[in-house]
Amino acid sequence: MARIQIKDLVKTFGAYTAVNGISMEIKDGEFMIMVGPSGCGKTTTLNMISGLETPTSGEIVIGNTVVNDLEPGERGLGMVFQDLALFPHMTVYENIAFGLRIKKEPQAEIERRVRAAAEAVHITPLLAKLPRQCSGGESQRVALARTIVTNPAVFLMDEPLSSLDAKLRVDMRTELKSLHARLGATFVYVTHDQAEAMTMADSIVVMSNGRIEQLGTPLAIYNTPATQFVAGFFGTPTMNFLEGTVEANGAGRRFTAPGIDQPLPDRLPTGMAGKKVTLGVRSEHVLVDANAPHAGTVSITEPLGDATLVHFDYGQGKTLVAKVPPTTTLGPGSTLRFRFAPEACHLFDAAGGARLN
Ligand code: ATP
Repeated sequence: MARIQIKDLVKTFGAYTAVNGISMEIKDGEFMIMVGPSGCGKTTTLNMISGLETPTSGEIVIGNTVVNDLEPGERGLGMVFQDLALFPHMTVYENIAFGLRIKKEPQAEIERRVRAAAEAVHITPLLAKLPRQCSGGESQRVALARTIVTNPAVFLMDEPLSSLDAKLRVDMRTELKSLHARLGATFVYVTHDQAEAMTMADSIVVMSNGRIEQLGTPLAIYNTPATQFVAGFFGTPTMNFLEGTVEANGAGRRFTAPGIDQPLPDRLPTGMAGKKVTLGVRSEHVLVDANAPHAGTVSITEPLGDATLVHFDYGQGKTLVAKVPPTTTLGPGSTLRFRFAPEACHLFDAAGGARLN
């Protein structure tokens, strides 16, 4: 069983706390992605799971075994890191076989497993090549095959795609996702790239300042971010944020700010009238419509091909971004009218950033 449980994990470096009390469970066979900005503690957490770092306090359980005191090689894990560290003088075949030769596996067994691992990541034609004769994406697959061959129940991966160009990264996402499905192993993957996390993960752990901000499925995190930090981290372009006040209006509630008077979703906690809040709305939920109540002036447009991002000023020098169909005739200087889809408005506490609706 390759379930991993992490309990109250803390790591300090001198006076600095890099990981500040993390608890989570990674299910057997799950593709779990830890994501967050540079320095948030993801690599340190992964290194404590692998045994490369010793926790200051807390417990790591793999299967039913507390592994805190086990050496990395005794934990049954396979690691794939950004720094591939392939042996340059060995062929791809020998690079993949290396771990098995160290363990003195029989030659026939090595042959069978190297070929199966190469097959799994589609690099059989490369087996006789040297690493310098491989492209970045091919080298990445060699590194994966080198881990697959040891048949670990858990794969730990730290930014394995970060050295690849944008197109290859996107291709490798699909490959990793299907590899995970075929192997049925537990994948624990670290990245700072929210798109990688969204597209590949079964579940995502969002970290900030050594703590977990939110843990959930990609769509739960995108649709109901638990904090303003998570809301701003996921999605391109970044969610629009507006500072304002909740006004009670009979049974309904409204959000008001300079240039904005917006109905709010029905389900809000009581006692919010007069509260200072931050309203979050994604660009696809800023609706441009001639009959809408609010006015703005376009500053720039960014055509993406399948949609166009329209940046516009409203109220007192504030800016918003709307995602509109690519057929738009709006350009710099155009005036527009806009509103927000009420059910797509996210409300955060202006003081602490916690989600309110
Ligand atoms: P990145 O995406 O940049 O790798 P990360 O989220 O993986 O970031 P960590 O590498 O876990 O971040 O580092 C978390 C914090 O701990 C950082 O501020 C880092 O400088 C600090 N840190 C990490 N290792 C050490 C160390 N050996 N000594 C002192 N500080 C460290």
